[in-house]
Amino acid sequence: MTALAGRRVGDEVLFYADKKFVAKARIIGLFDNHALAKAVWGTDEAQKTWQHIMALDNVVEFEVPAEPVLRGLGVPVPLRSLTLVGAEGRLRHLDMVDPAVSVQPRAKRPATGDGTTLGRNDVLRALANLKTHVKQQWPSRHKPITLLWAIGRLAAGQDRMVEWQTFRDEVGPLLRDFGLEESKVTPEYPFWHLRSSGLWDVQGVEETKSTPTPSQLTAARASAGLSRDAAKVLRRSLARAEAIGLICSNYLGEVDREELLSRVGLAGYASASGDLSEGPSDGGRAARRSRTSSAPVRDSRLVERIKVMYGHECQVCGSRVETMHSHYSEAAHIQGLGGPHHGPDQLDNLLCLCPNHHVEFDRLAIYIDEYWAVRRNSTGEVEYQLKRHADHVIEQEYLQYHRGLCGRG
Ligand SMILES: [Zn+2]
Repeated sequence: MTALAGRRVGDEVLFYADKKFVAKARIIGLFDNHALAKAVWGTDEAQKTWQHIMALDNVVEFEVPAEPVLRGLGVPVPLRSLTLVGAEGRLRHLDMVDPAVSVQPRAKRPATGDGTTLGRNDVLRALANLKTHVKQQWPSRHKPITLLWAIGRLAAGQDRMVEWQTFRDEVGPLLRDFGLEESKVTPEYPFWHLRSSGLWDVQGVEETKSTPTPSQLTAARASAGLSRDAAKVLRRSLARAEAIGLICSNYLGEVDREELLSRVGLAGYASASGDLSEGPSDGGRAARRSRTSSAPVRDSRLVERIKVMYGHECQVCGSRVETMHSHYSEAAHIQGLGGPHHGPDQLDNLLCLCPNHHVEFDRLAIYIDEYWAVRRNSTGEVEYQLKRHADHVIEQEYLQYHRGLCGRG
């Protein structure tokens, strides 16, 4: 089917019905199964069927008029739609699918050193598809924690490759404090097995079938770290924010994100405004004002301008906090001014929010999608449509950065 050519695992697909996009989902597997396709969709006059089948995850429902989007993409309107099979129907057909046989594993990540360069999408896709051992329905946290630690080193400008003994001393305590409760502290596992992600290099050890023991790693003076390509991608700010958000939301949902990120030197990534000591709370702002170095400068005229533009009404909920003589609102930077985000102090990077939504936006509880819908991060559900003044241009690039932090990149 040429219509479906070029799909790859990790791509997002949109569901179209009734001139609207009604949901999106991520492709987690692609396979061909003629018998199943025939049972689900039947055949056309020429006895042909769709035999390319996608397995989907991360389904998010919404309603967006399709026409402007399609026109923007240069796709003729209206579209021909696909038939979807609901959960009950799927169960009927389940015995026709043998995932172990028919699902094509995603293309092997190019090994480093063979001249192929990984791009941002490759890195994010690899991070989204980490192979983790599942223990009592929870995925093991060894690899995600180790990757955050490695990204923390990059952010601090430290060497990419780390000797086993240093690795053990630094990653071991993180696995102990943030790993699953029943999980053993075995830093040699991520040290060795992260290679399967395609983002990780190990040097000094011969290829073996089993995991090398700690003493073997010590004797070999082995070292490991992010591959050159992965490190190159993750040095860029948007990709790094997206990677950290993705790792935290996909694998570490139950972990105290602020605590873990601060332990690996990525404290600022726990919030949209940056370093929490520079956060939107009053104490934080006072502290920031009194700081003499590296304090982001805020243009108070811009702050005034956005508040006046919206008459202090929150762009999320529309409410206005009353004070004795006037009203109160807060100007929120979309890509925070503070480190590590270093967003610009410009009107197109500002929102006028009520204090509650400011905190929720800053602490990544809500995000704004490509269609200006305000969604709750924990569920993906649309709660509001962002209110936008005709004179207020909001730059999507900054929202994209914020979504990255939310694990919605
Ligand atoms: Zn509000």
